[in-house]
Amino acid sequence: DYDLSKADPEVRSIIDMEKQRQFKSLELIASENFTSKAVMEAVGSCLTNKYSEGLPGKRYYGGNEYIDELETLCQQRALAAFQLDGKQWGVNVQPLSGSPANFEVYTALLSPHDRIMGLDLPHGGHLSHGFMTSKRRVSGTSVYFESMPYRLDEATGLVDYEMMEKTSILFRPKLIIIGASAYPRDFDYPRARKIADAVGAFLMMDMAHISGLVAASVVANPFEYCDVVTTTTHKSLRGPRGGMIFFKRDPVLGVDMESAINNAVFPGLQGGPHNHTIGGLAVCLKHAQSPEFKAYQGQVVSNCRALASRLTELGYKLVSGGSDNHLVLVDLRPLGLDGARVEKILDMASITLNKNSVPGDKSALVPGGIRIGTPAMTTRQFIEKEFIATADFIHEGVQIALEAKQSVQGSKLQDFMKFIKSPEFSL
Ligand code: PLP
Repeated sequence: DYDLSKADPEVRSIIDMEKQRQFKSLELIASENFTSKAVMEAVGSCLTNKYSEGLPGKRYYGGNEYIDELETLCQQRALAAFQLDGKQWGVNVQPLSGSPANFEVYTALLSPHDRIMGLDLPHGGHLSHGFMTSKRRVSGTSVYFESMPYRLDEATGLVDYEMMEKTSILFRPKLIIIGASAYPRDFDYPRARKIADAVGAFLMMDMAHISGLVAASVVANPFEYCDVVTTTTHKSLRGPRGGMIFFKRDPVLGVDMESAINNAVFPGLQGGPHNHTIGGLAVCLKHAQSPEFKAYQGQVVSNCRALASRLTELGYKLVSGGSDNHLVLVDLRPLGLDGARVEKILDMASITLNKNSVPGDKSALVPGGIRIGTPAMTTRQFIEKEFIATADFIHEGVQIALEAKQSVQGSKLQDFMKFIKSPEFSL
């Protein structure tokens, strides 16, 4: 035994400080959560020592009898947690995280330079859905595949399915991706399915943000309409950091999904699975089938509604006017403020959230909004009244940011940051 505090007091102390930061602040980052002690125990176990390239029963290393049992259990629980029939759906639990899971799907189903369509990043999509600017192919997805995003209707803040349809008829993508990192509403899966079918495209849902809500059936079910569903495991699902890919067992558009996806994960893009993560994920997926988990996810959504309506009462403009899920997007531009300044002031008050672009934004570095999520603080037992108080705290922070902005000489973000660090300013 080699205790961390003795072996490496420096790392021990950084971990302790981070733990304190996590527990003393209001964690409102929509993609974060607090996983359980049981999950952490599995993640911090001897499972990390083992190599097990391949799949259960078909490994390239010896000594895998328990790892096989573990991965099979994890797969079964993944299907059960999302109420899937193992004859119709399969799952790969080895992706190291959400971005690798997505890239694995692309390489499984597409050839280099095939066309894809996902929600544009400045409108709430994820980098890995093919983000590029007019100057640069930012995400590897847009380097290796041709990307033409769809966007939100800026007037309503809702996915512009009409644009998705029109663009797909012209662009003829081979894959349409739904799912988002900053979208407060549910998706119209039947409509997306129809659009994909009209051009002979695969339909993929990246449910990373909402997978806990999907498992608890508090939002619509993507599995009824999609060919492949990816997710991270550490957001609303509340597991360890990792990823999963669910695929239809029957061939789709002539592709044997099971072997294409499994081969893309290994040997295509990964080596040995992270068995400690798979252990933690199995624990999380057992919990995801419990009545407590369902109640938790219902509370995440109710809390978000309470937060959204309090912010609206306080006069804030919310993208799409509210929320159906676990996050709200606040448009600060009507106040003459931006997300970067508000994020910084709230950070100084131990309220952690992130700046986020909102439809119509010109700059990604100084975006016009903030994203606020309810999963983490709901894990810490917050109910509606605490989220109403949280909205009031955020409001206070916004007032302070406004006052500070007025006191700053110069309009640059750096001037603002310098000012709030100076003795002239105190919270
Ligand atoms: N997909 C979506 C919708 C996400 O929001 C994220 C991360 O925030 C990812 C994929 C990528 O996950 P990871 O950061 O684990 O690669």
